Amino acid sequence: MFIGHYAPATLGAATGRIKLWQAFVGAQLVDYGWSGLTLAGIEKARIIPDFTEASALDLYHMPYTHSLGMAIIWAVVSAMIFGLFFRNQATAGAIVFGLVVLSHWFMDLIVHIPDLPLWFGTDKYGFGLWNNRAVSFSLEVGIFVVAILYYLKNTIPNGKKNRIWPIILISFAVGLQVFSNYGPPPNSISEMNISALFIYTVFALLAYMVDKSRTHKGRI
Ligand SMILES: [Zn+2]
Repeated sequence: MFIGHYAPATLGAATGRIKLWQAFVGAQLVDYGWSGLTLAGIEKARIIPDFTEASALDLYHMPYTHSLGMAIIWAVVSAMIFGLFFRNQATAGAIVFGLVVLSHWFMDLIVHIPDLPLWFGTDKYGFGLWNNRAVSFSLEVGIFVVAILYYLKNTIPNGKKNRIWPIILISFAVGLQVFSNYGPPPNSISEMNISALFIYTVFALLAYMVDKSRTHKGRI
C-alpha cells in the first residue's frame, strides 16, 4: 500500500495528540526500514512486470519489517523513542504514534498478495487487492481523501493563504498514486528503495507545512 497508509496516520493526527508530520513518518516507518534493509541486501525483493495489476514488486523476503511480530516490536520501540523525544506530547502521544506505526502492517495486508508473515519463517498472508488495479487504487485514494477531510474538519486554517497546503498535499499524493499503480514498473529495486525514502520524506515535509498552517479545534 502507498498513500492509503496515510489514512490511519491522518486519523491519528486528527486526535490532536500527534502532529501530522509525525504521523506520516510513523505510517511509513517500517517501509523506511524496508528500503534500508533491502538496499543492504538483508530483505529481498524483485521486479516482475505484471506480477499483480497494481504492483510489479515480488516482496519475497521481508520478515524484519513486514512480519506481524516485528511490526509490533517496531511499534512498541518507536512509541518508546517517541515518548523520550516528545515528552510534551505525553503518553497519549506515544501510544497514538505506536498505533500508527502498527497500522502499516494491517493496511499492507489488504493489498499485498500473501507475502506478509506472522514471524520469521511462518506462513504468509495478504488479501491480494493489488490483483485489481482499479479497486486498490480507488481504495487508497478514497480512504486518504476521507481521512484528510476529517482532519481538516478538526482543524482551522491560520489565515486564508494557508488553505493551499492541504490541496498541495492531496494533489501530490493522488498524482503519485496514479504513477505507482498505472505508471511503468521501477527500473530496479534499489532505485525503488531510494525513491521511496525520498518520497516518504517529501510527504512528511508537506505534512509539516499542513501542521504549520492549521490549528486544532481541540484534542480528542
Ligand atoms: Zn509496507
